[in-house]
Amino acid sequence: MKDYYKILGVSRDATTEEIKKAYRRLAHKYHPDKGGDEEKFKEINEAYQVLSDAEKRRKYDEMLASGGVSFGSPFSQKVRLDSNLFDFGFEDLTSFFEEVVGDLFNKTFTQKVEKEKLDITLSVDLTLEEVVKGATKSLSYLRYGKCLRCKGSGAEPNSRMIECEICRGTGKAHQVNQTFWGIFSKVHPCPECKGRGVKHEIKCVVCKGEGKVEKEEKIKIEIPPGVDTGQILTFKGLGNYSSLLKEFGDLLIKIVVLPHPKFKRRGDNLYAFLEVPLAKLYLGGKVDFVDITGKKITIKIPPLTKVGSLFKLQGLGVPHFRRRGRGDLYLKVSLKMPSRLTESQKELLKKLEQEGL
Ligand SMILES: [Zn+2]
Ligand SMILES: [Zn+2]
Repeated sequence: MKDYYKILGVSRDATTEEIKKAYRRLAHKYHPDKGGDEEKFKEINEAYQVLSDAEKRRKYDEMLASGGVSFGSPFSQKVRLDSNLFDFGFEDLTSFFEEVVGDLFNKTFTQKVEKEKLDITLSVDLTLEEVVKGATKSLSYLRYGKCLRCKGSGAEPNSRMIECEICRGTGKAHQVNQTFWGIFSKVHPCPECKGRGVKHEIKCVVCKGEGKVEKEEKIKIEIPPGVDTGQILTFKGLGNYSSLLKEFGDLLIKIVVLPHPKFKRRGDNLYAFLEVPLAKLYLGGKVDFVDITGKKITIKIPPLTKVGSLFKLQGLGVPHFRRRGRGDLYLKVSLKMPSRLTESQKELLKKLEQEGL
């Protein structure tokens, strides 16, 4: 561990004024612009950042006195072990911490961590028919619910409140980082008491103090018509329970629309082929078509209709999502080709050929 006092050449009981003077003198001497040693200059700055700040200096002194282990002990170790609340390493925590500043820190951070696990995302497959009609889907998934035995408190019923021995009632856990800019002691909620400073003497035997238990949830959800692949529907309050925030997260349903053998979808419009027998292409006539809702519709073909012609059927597409109206249906004319011909059909076709058709 670096001795910042030695670096600045001052005694351990130096006044702020003495530290400032020493820093100015050394910074001047080692400034890289004046040909000084850059490493040395950085070191001087680092030392000054810590020793010129009363709070940082106090913590640094504590650390020197404890042999440079860390401030947080006895509980920094504990935090590491018990941190299933934050199951990532301290290095990761740091980057989180840097996003939030000052006193806001405690609350914001807690919420940030919890928020991530509160919401549950599931993906749901839908057929195009279900998209058009809307669907009711039965789902089963695992989620944390409020523990029924302790009603989310994490305590055995009737157990008394005691001061948390891990944070000694402060609700805070400290973490120390040494960076180029100096030593920073960072604070986050004590994982043992979840930042409350007090805890129940006996933990709930069912949830082991978590206030929540994982269980299988069986629900039915209504999916409105018109959804599309990639869309996410939010079902409030169906996510995980947080005993810390006393609230439920959301269930996020990610929509996947399965491909359809007959219809292609583009936006809310549908596209399909309309197979027309040869004679009707020439003479015109009526052709039946079953639309996406299963309804039979009759389409009038004018005489001499070309293969590839497009018919637009207004309002027979996919319903607009949470808006009135529907997209359109486009039918592209194709020739309905028989798999084999009868003798009489062959005769007739030969005659047509002789007629120049
Ligand atoms: Zn605590
Ligand atoms: Zn419980």
